[in-house]
Amino acid sequence: MTRRWQPALLDSQQSGGWALAHCKQHFLADSNGVLFPREWLKKQDLPILAEHGIGHFDGDAIYLLELQQPVDVPGCAWQSLRQFMLQGDADIFRLVGYATQIGTWARQHRFCGSCGGPMQPLAGERAMHCPRCESHHYPRLSPSMIVLVTRGDEILLARSPRFVSGVYSTLAGFVEAGESVEQCVVREVHEEVGVEVRNLQYLGSQGWPFPHSLMLGFHAEYASGDIVMQVDEIEDAQWFSVHRLPPLPAPRSIARYLIDVYVARRLGLPEPSLLG
Ligand SMILES: [Zn+2]
Repeated sequence: MTRRWQPALLDSQQSGGWALAHCKQHFLADSNGVLFPREWLKKQDLPILAEHGIGHFDGDAIYLLELQQPVDVPGCAWQSLRQFMLQGDADIFRLVGYATQIGTWARQHRFCGSCGGPMQPLAGERAMHCPRCESHHYPRLSPSMIVLVTRGDEILLARSPRFVSGVYSTLAGFVEAGESVEQCVVREVHEEVGVEVRNLQYLGSQGWPFPHSLMLGFHAEYASGDIVMQVDEIEDAQWFSVHRLPPLPAPRSIARYLIDVYVARRLGLPEPSLLG
């Protein structure tokens, strides 16, 4: 299948193309969507912090305008990244997911973390360069694991106080320095719900732009222990039968994919695919 969205490093000194305006995980949009003729958008008196050429959509050059703050543009409204995940076209979600990570990185790397000097984009790479101390800063990615723990026809799901009311999901956590992702799975499951797991199986990954995670998805079998919830992180955790599941995470998330794959295998149904 041909992807409509293809990331690429484009020179922002070139004119023309299409642009999107981003600020803090929100995008300017009108009834035609998030892409505006670039020259028109740049005439709208926007507080532009940085401009980056980020790729091609349907073959057209796409540029990102990172704004200091969201401003009103007649006929437009600001939409959250989460709304695009829940409602938008999958290719548009890939585009805005990439754009939000580049925009956040551009905002946070205008000045060097080592010497405080102003940074410049590095030619030929997606990197910011400090001419004063020669350090380079690349877009940040935070590896994290996400795991579905199962016991026969039962799956272990938990609720964080941050979740939408009623929704239960898989367990997840960030990989710590010096740790393998497999060690992270075992540690996080033990910390969050107190059980031990075995037979880890890697099922796939998903870039998760909230704000810059790379989610590495696993299946794990329950080995031993009773559920003991981690205070503050987990407000409820339960074993659910694959025949009677609670409200689940959004269909495009890897959390939902891990659940759907296991349920499909237990029930002999076709396996779903993951939004890559
Ligand atoms: Zn520096």
